[in-house]
Amino acid sequence: MTNLEVSPQQEICPPAPAEGRSGPCLQLWPEREVPLGGVRAMNVKRTLPQRGLPTIGAWCFLDSFGPDRTAMSVLPHPHIGLQTVTWPLAGHIRHRDSVGSDVVVRPGELNIMTAGHGVSHSEFAVLPADGGGLPLQRGLQLWVALPDAHRHRAPAFEQHRELPVADGRGFSATVMVGEFGGVVSSATMYSPIVGADVACEGDAVLPLNPDFEHGVLVLDGGLAVDGQDLPAGPLGYLGAGRSELEVQARPGTRFLLIGGEPFGEELLMWWNFVGRTHEEVEQARGDWEAQATLPDAMAAGARYGLVHGHGPDAGAEAGRIPAPPLPGVRLTPRKRTVD
Ligand code: MN
Repeated sequence: MTNLEVSPQQEICPPAPAEGRSGPCLQLWPEREVPLGGVRAMNVKRTLPQRGLPTIGAWCFLDSFGPDRTAMSVLPHPHIGLQTVTWPLAGHIRHRDSVGSDVVVRPGELNIMTAGHGVSHSEFAVLPADGGGLPLQRGLQLWVALPDAHRHRAPAFEQHRELPVADGRGFSATVMVGEFGGVVSSATMYSPIVGADVACEGDAVLPLNPDFEHGVLVLDGGLAVDGQDLPAGPLGYLGAGRSELEVQARPGTRFLLIGGEPFGEELLMWWNFVGRTHEEVEQARGDWEAQATLPDAMAAGARYGLVHGHGPDAGAEAGRIPAPPLPGVRLTPRKRTVD
């Protein structure tokens, strides 16, 4: 998945203080509908980044799409400086990328793409073989910011078809990335982090890492946290310093739990790029546009490589997503107040 906004703005994400932006709390951060380009684009609700809550741990982007009967078709586009975490809830998605991957991801399976210095990929809904109707699509797309020591690394892709499960008082959690309840995912991550899909009913007590800040996105049902309602829709920010979380869950409740060590680096996010400076983002954009005119053989060796299957003979799948224009307003990261 990708940021398909036609006129994306640059977003500066200030570094989080080491102790997190808050101690234990429950703040509700509303989702916002994001206008996307293309008639086949999906209905997307974004809850990260937000002004005032740019990151939770290294998580810097959270989009929820569907449920919609629509044929997702996202042509090749680039990324830098991040990992994409794709978690389908309904429907199958075919992922192709410039490191040679061509895989289908289904509910219960996880795609992790590490962009590093530069990668490109496409994502298409898998249509029913019988040709009948559009598939129901629902899912989550998250980005994890790569820390400075890893953000220039070579691109990579991994798919996890079996994920470990942590069971506890009133809950059962599929551990997508990082560690939760003593259970560790084998997904490759570059900062202390957690991402889990939690099924929960009645009174539950979730073990948390008190060094992490956490957030919860209710997918189905609803929760009460600290005596306050947390319905489906907004992102609930839980702050840092919690070693456990007591919740009361309605029947059939399912939620995404994300968290991590407060991310101490300032980010500059624009379109599908996570960088540090305007110049870097401008260069990343220019490199993608420059590849458009290269023959395939040269594009394969260029910064973002080549996604096979989208050449001139690919019919409806031919082409690429051009980079939008950079906004006229130039943002420069704030000076660090803490080293
Ligand atoms: Mn993408």
